[in-house]
Amino acid sequence: MQYPRYHGGIGPIVTLTRDTTTIDIVESNTVCATLPIPFFWTTTAMSFVTGTGIVTLFPHLLEEHRGLLNPERKADFALDPSLGEAQNEQDQLEMLLTKYRSRGFDIRDSYLDWARETDPTASCDARDAPACPLTFRWVGDWHTLMRAFGSVDVRLKRQVMEGILSETTTIWRRGGEPCGKPCTALRRFIPAEVWCQGRDLVA
Ligand SMILES: [Zn+2]
Repeated sequence: MQYPRYHGGIGPIVTLTRDTTTIDIVESNTVCATLPIPFFWTTTAMSFVTGTGIVTLFPHLLEEHRGLLNPERKADFALDPSLGEAQNEQDQLEMLLTKYRSRGFDIRDSYLDWARETDPTASCDARDAPACPLTFRWVGDWHTLMRAFGSVDVRLKRQVMEGILSETTTIWRRGGEPCGKPCTALRRFIPAEVWCQGRDLVA
């Protein structure tokens, strides 16, 4: 099943505020709770909290304070009312970059942008690259970092994804411009793909 890309699979958003802390609870519009996440603007936001722990889809990038723009959403800026204060798409992009830079993140288009600063010939290891435009990922795959809350004894036994989260998953491909060998075989924009699937079909 596929969904319109700019819609992002998001249903109601509930904002909770206490003192200076604000969190948005994003509700999926399907049974698949994780479906909206690959539609977010950057990989820096592609993490979530469950009842028993935390899940991060791009843990290496997050640890390095690096983030990648979502190529598909970037193309759809004009369709997003949440960035409505900007006058044009360039303004919107600058607002987004300013927001994440103020939080200490370096935001780029391709994960190879950093490597190519020191080695212009750096190429893509497509098979193992979690952020390659061609790589199909799923929430809970071996690139996903999952850590339970609680003491060590509790954490050793606790599942981070329980209930419906353990029964469904979201499969996605970032898409975007080909990032280098061996992706250069495809010389055109690679469309993103996102869909919900039974967890038992992937693991
Ligand atoms: Zn690649």
